[in-house]
Amino acid sequence: MARIILGASPARRLVIEIAYVSGRRPSQQAVDHLTTILKRETVKSEGVVATFDAQLPGTRSSYSLNNILALEQRYRRLHSNGEVATIWIAALNGDYAGGSGTLGLAFTATSFALFEDQIQQAANVFVSADSIERSVITHEMGHLLGLVNIGYRSHYDHEDPQHPHHSKYQTSVMYWAVEDTSIATILRGGPPDDFDQYDRADLALLRGR
Ligand SMILES: [Zn+2]
Repeated sequence: MARIILGASPARRLVIEIAYVSGRRPSQQAVDHLTTILKRETVKSEGVVATFDAQLPGTRSSYSLNNILALEQRYRRLHSNGEVATIWIAALNGDYAGGSGTLGLAFTATSFALFEDQIQQAANVFVSADSIERSVITHEMGHLLGLVNIGYRSHYDHEDPQHPHHSKYQTSVMYWAVEDTSIATILRGGPPDDFDQYDRADLALLRGR
């Protein structure tokens, strides 16, 4: 799926559908940041657009993987077809039952969750929730794009052996701590919010140019 999201064909357009629990709508600046990066990294002659869609119930305080899959089943409106690739983002309240320190989770090849309450709690006086959200949304998209070494083999040795499918470099948005509540203490100078040169070389490999 990463190749379809990235490449020029068959999908000529990429649509990001964002569903959210009341009060947990991702900030426009985070969505704009993500869209800007996707426009740079993908080859889509008919564009990359983000759309805010269904409001999610938010009746739980903790979500299992099955709970999140059930939400997608019920509320995801757009599915990829030949000419359009689609991605679904669920911005949730509460936490992830599979790991309470989780800020974000890529749960299928075309969908990921943001745990907005955890993102708020991870912030401190030095690192804002806005900057964390921007990093987490980019990180989870990176997993959907195949980073690091998901279904391909990088020409560069940049995967963290302790944290599979993550970058070993703290300057990459694919560093493991970006999706963990320890983000603001581990990445004190502010978390990275973009792919580094090795990630970008991998994306070039996957999109075929
Ligand atoms: Zn990750």
